[in-house]
Amino acid sequence: MKSSWMMAIATVAACAQARAEVKGEPDTPKLPDVPYHVHDGKRPQPPSVATGGALAVKPPADAKVLFDGSSLDAWTTQGGPPAFLLKDGVMVANGKNIETREKFGAIQLHFEWRLPAGRPVDGQKGGNSGVFLMGLYEVQVLQSHGNPTYADGTAGALYGQKPPLVNATAPQGEWQSYDIAFEPPVYEGETVAKPAKVTVFHNGVIVQHGETYMGPTVWRKLASYPKNHPATGPIALQFHGDPMEYRNIWVRPLGSRP
Ligand code: MG
Repeated sequence: MKSSWMMAIATVAACAQARAEVKGEPDTPKLPDVPYHVHDGKRPQPPSVATGGALAVKPPADAKVLFDGSSLDAWTTQGGPPAFLLKDGVMVANGKNIETREKFGAIQLHFEWRLPAGRPVDGQKGGNSGVFLMGLYEVQVLQSHGNPTYADGTAGALYGQKPPLVNATAPQGEWQSYDIAFEPPVYEGETVAKPAKVTVFHNGVIVQHGETYMGPTVWRKLASYPKNHPATGPIALQFHGDPMEYRNIWVRPLGSRP
């Protein structure tokens, strides 16, 4: 039997196949606490904020460098070689998702991403990728500058759950940074005592402020937590058909205060 997290990854893969934009009256489930549905085109667009662009933060001494432009050794696709390409010191999304060989729980994560200029984008099409924390919880990567889509699919969204506070996406062709602090859910038996929690800075601007996930990311469905959960998982990067570029990826596992 497949574990629930394997099924979640399978759902994500299915999402990558089905790329149709959800427009008009949503036929998706209603979200709790807000008067909107999953991927609701009527949910207000996050206001756009111009920024100074990517914060190219160098890895601190205690960081684990996951990509410094020289090799893809920290990454794998389903246990084999990573599908993404190494080109001119940059990692280019290609073929299938990739994930770190190492697994993590609570982390601080930094990376930079860019969609090359000149590629046509339209909503979720053309410039879509994502980072999956523990392989399960997506923070959306999307070329969202001047490219409206359903709010919970904007860059910096907890995809299908919570739009970013603002749209801090830089123009296409420019580098962008994400700085993420993530805590896995805490289980007591088969009950979630504390949901997974995340804070995200996009180009230095906070777009998720200690927000909780309703459960592992799903497409067109209401997310919910499984009855059990791995304590750690890989950091995965999504291939959604588009040649998103990545550089300067590092992580700091977060323990408890000494
Ligand atoms: Mg995505």
